[in-house]
Amino acid sequence: MTAGDVRTLTVRAAAKINLHLGVGAVRADGYHPIDTVFHAVSLFDDVSARSGTEGAGPVLDVEGSDHVDLTEVPLDSRNLVHAAATRLAREERRSPDVRIGVHKSIPVAGGLAGGSADAAATLVALDRLWGLELEDQDLLRVAAELGSDVPFALLGGTARGTGRGDVLQRVDDRSTWWWVLVTSPQGLSTPAVYRRFDELFPTAPARPTSGDAVERAVHSGDPVRLARVLHNDLEPAAFDLRPGLADLVSRGEAAGALKGMVSGSGPTCAFLCADAEAARAVCAELRETERERSAADARRRTVLVTTGPAPGVHQVAYERR
Ligand code: ATP
Repeated sequence: MTAGDVRTLTVRAAAKINLHLGVGAVRADGYHPIDTVFHAVSLFDDVSARSGTEGAGPVLDVEGSDHVDLTEVPLDSRNLVHAAATRLAREERRSPDVRIGVHKSIPVAGGLAGGSADAAATLVALDRLWGLELEDQDLLRVAAELGSDVPFALLGGTARGTGRGDVLQRVDDRSTWWWVLVTSPQGLSTPAVYRRFDELFPTAPARPTSGDAVERAVHSGDPVRLARVLHNDLEPAAFDLRPGLADLVSRGEAAGALKGMVSGSGPTCAFLCADAEAARAVCAELRETERERSAADARRRTVLVTTGPAPGVHQVAYERR
């Protein structure tokens, strides 16, 4: 191998929360129709793809920030990064010889679509590394084949998602919204939350509740108005499976958040705050109560201030040697 053969490209992808998550009754094919408003927030995973790996691939290497528990992250074909690399290589009729490093700051099984973010980042990293120059439409199509949250991770910002969440329409969002996120040390399985939703709401309407009011509130730029309409149909199921979450939401609101809610299928909770100052105050108070509540437990919740909308997948570094 000669100098200049090894190139490493690093791409960043954001976590998402759902400002609205309407869920309809389960269909015969096992899927739930949804009407959602996705919102990317400033909590990111980085995916680095390195060329020059000879032999079999893709080879994965996953590490994470202190608050991320990696024990449930597979390193084989079950990892969405592996699936994305294999899928793209097959599509392009080339071998997936590549080494991919993932640095996770998005909690695993947290309701923040971290795995989907990694898959979207992998598609962009390999598109650039392999010089494919795929059209956006082609990247979005491959993304949708990998999972219904993957197309939004590519796009970022704020977007309405219908169908299974993969039919996307950008929402014009010119504000900066301040969020406090509270992660849980133990994840929640998305399929388990949907199963509980089916048990709790056996007569759920086929058509999911509309995200129109949330879209209008986003356009208004008014956090008090947005707080009034934030909505998650999966919240009762997540509360049922993790009773501590309802109490956490109440504590965040008592600490000054305009509104607290479970993010997606949970267990991460998101608290909308009026501005940066309010977010810092809510964060400080929740950190303090967490310290008191779980003094003896090293696996306590992590409390973070984030903003949205965050950008979609974007390149952050390139190295050649
Ligand atoms: P979903 O996207 O299914 O709603 P989530 O956002 O709650 O789920 P993820 O962090 O995406 O959670 O992970 C869900 C599961 O996917 C994990 O428990 C893990 O076993 C598997 N997984 C596959 N690839 C990855 C990845 N790159 N990062 C994290 N988890 C992954």
